[in-house]
Amino acid sequence: MNIVFLGYPGSGKGTQARFIAQKLGMVHFAPGDILWDEVVKKTPLGMEVHDYLSSGRLVPDWLILRLLKDKFAAEKRGILFDGFPRTLEQAEALDAWLSSRSAALSAVIYFNLPEAAAAKRLEGRVACAGCGASYTAPAGAPLSACSACGGALKRRDDDVPAIIQKRMMVYRDQTEQLISYYKSNDILVEVKADQPQQAVTVQVATALKSVL
Ligand code: ADP
Repeated sequence: MNIVFLGYPGSGKGTQARFIAQKLGMVHFAPGDILWDEVVKKTPLGMEVHDYLSSGRLVPDWLILRLLKDKFAAEKRGILFDGFPRTLEQAEALDAWLSSRSAALSAVIYFNLPEAAAAKRLEGRVACAGCGASYTAPAGAPLSACSACGGALKRRDDDVPAIIQKRMMVYRDQTEQLISYYKSNDILVEVKADQPQQAVTVQVATALKSVL
């Protein structure tokens, strides 16, 4: 089974993806997490993408597609795509790649959350540098340690108002069209992402039951 999680930055797809992928024994592909990790480690790839990430722009499609193909050439498990695809070109390339492996997408879960609510969440978001868990802390509040692994909590460089606005605009311009793309393939299921975390998990689990 291969699944896409689609929605605004801040719609909660990353939190749900980590949980669901683990529950279902799937691999979690979150290019944003991979790229930020490369930036922090100052690898050649990290240096190459740093300007894109810190200004809220998408990195070039070819680079994301290379990441996908390099990482999963030999992967046999189902993949949960989180934050990918984000452009029509990526969506078409994903379909082609899956079909070259005699596979397909089983479902696309669309996390529906108004833009203003998503932006507000990002402004209050802190993430663990160790395990990636996300928490909420009002802007300016002191940051404690991760309650899951004890790692250090940090705000992301792109979680500041001007860059958040840019990421929202990029979503509207380039990613939102994927809702109708997947609707026309008849595999889109919408969940109400303005609910508490567990209630969203229940909706996602219910949506996936029919394709398991
Ligand atoms: P968010 O969804 O909160 O914006 P992510 O962690 O998913 O954050 O992504 C962070 C950044 O990584 C994006 O702003 C973009 O620069 C880059 N990125 C992630 N996924 C993609 C993608 N599929 N295509 C192009 N760039 C991407």
